[in-house]
Amino acid sequence: MAVQQNKVSKSRRNNRRAHDALVAANPNECPNCGELKRPHHVCASCGHYGDREIVAMTDEIDLDEDAA
Ligand SMILES: [Zn+2]
Repeated sequence: MAVQQNKVSKSRRNNRRAHDALVAANPNECPNCGELKRPHHVCASCGHYGDREIVAMTDEIDLDEDAA
């Protein structure tokens, strides 16, 4: 196991962590449905990426289909 040679002071530790802050997500509008989506990701609500439909969306998924 690696062991540090010197104690890292609170100041040095906090200075290192000065750049660790989380940044807020930057969603943009889907050009197809107008819903907010993550940039460079397929739209979660309509399945489009750009002007193409990547994921076919169904209106309703019947989970009890096999049980009936
Ligand atoms: Zn969409």
